[in-house]
Amino acid sequence: KYRRELQLRKKCHNELVRLKGNIRVFGRVRPITKEDGEGPEAANAVTFDADDDAVLHLLHKGKQVSFELDKVFPPQASQEEVFQEVQALVTSCIDGYNVCIFAYGQTGAGKTYTMEGTAANPGINQRALQLLFSEVRGKAADWDYTITVSAAEIYNEALRDLLGKEPQEKLEIKLCPDGSGQLYVPGLTEFRVQSVEDINKVFDFGHIKRVTECTNLNEHSSRSHALLIVTVRGLDRSTGLRTTGKLNLVDLAGSERVGRSGAEGSRLREAQHINKSLSALGDVIYALRSRQGHVPFRNSKLTYLLQDSLSGDSKTLMMVQVSPAEKNTSETLCSLKFAERVRSVELGPVSRKAELGSWPSQEHLEGDSPGSSAPAG
Ligand code: ADP
Ligand code: MG
Repeated sequence: KYRRELQLRKKCHNELVRLKGNIRVFGRVRPITKEDGEGPEAANAVTFDADDDAVLHLLHKGKQVSFELDKVFPPQASQEEVFQEVQALVTSCIDGYNVCIFAYGQTGAGKTYTMEGTAANPGINQRALQLLFSEVRGKAADWDYTITVSAAEIYNEALRDLLGKEPQEKLEIKLCPDGSGQLYVPGLTEFRVQSVEDINKVFDFGHIKRVTECTNLNEHSSRSHALLIVTVRGLDRSTGLRTTGKLNLVDLAGSERVGRSGAEGSRLREAQHINKSLSALGDVIYALRSRQGHVPFRNSKLTYLLQDSLSGDSKTLMMVQVSPAEKNTSETLCSLKFAERVRSVELGPVSRKAELGSWPSQEHLEGDSPGSSAPAG
């Protein structure tokens, strides 16, 4: 019975992908905070349309620039509201899909708030695991599921285990020897989690390790990518059917451009590595979305590690975080241009026709976005 349901869902999914592609780009605008200060630099520079939740407007240097994404969340959007929009993506890994959710944006724009959240108001990571547990429990009559969690960080193009016992392990990404083309990371710790308490333990451990191994966590976390990798393996007891799905939750390094004159030494090196990996990620998503034959996965550790979860029938969500404050509009503009670039891809004539015929909603075609400058690429 479930198998049939699975096939049906796969069919629906394939149809959806054919029409819309499997990459979504959302924007989330954080509220103005105390840290933004007072006075003109803390003035709000981002506005929304009452009747269109895919559009936002940025007032930059006296000019209004508008952007259309797949969806935008205004400052008052709650963690629940945001999660509601991503939960279908999360649960699809139970059916064997690989999923990536990225938080992109300058330091202070709300990436960690969206992914980790606070104790009182948890973000996507915690909610996703909780939802996976409850969904899996609901299928326990027919299926056995195992959920494991790994946590890693990429700093200066070095991959490090956040759950391993040894400090500062440098890990390599390898091709599976079975010829399947799959990638794996020998030595990356995988914890089996069976309850919400287990998850909290894992999160605390990873966090403590990260804190104790660097002198300034805030600075460090803004210069490294943090990954939480959840693997869901299922076995249908009656038919022997097996599924494996992976959910990759990624809090990216800050996208801010480092002043060319100011940075030197290690700071400059960090900035170059971040720059390289974020543009590599943008290039990969752009290539996938435009269905280019060659996808440059190998240009960074991040894209290479996530290759399996970005290609094929995988699903990707890019959550672009921005600050609404006047003083941040240059970076906000950059982040929104990045968002537009990865999502503005011209679809082929066939899919365009199908799209216009039977899918009248959000997807926009290149050049359609209101008033925005043309994205590079
Ligand atoms: P980043 O990880 O991008 O550097 P943070 O997530 O640390 O940014 O957010 C910076 C500050 O703004 C934090 O104090 C955070 O609690 C707050 N913040 C971010 N987004 C929101 C939001 N949607 N609602 C309330 N506070 C937020
Ligand atoms: Mg952060």
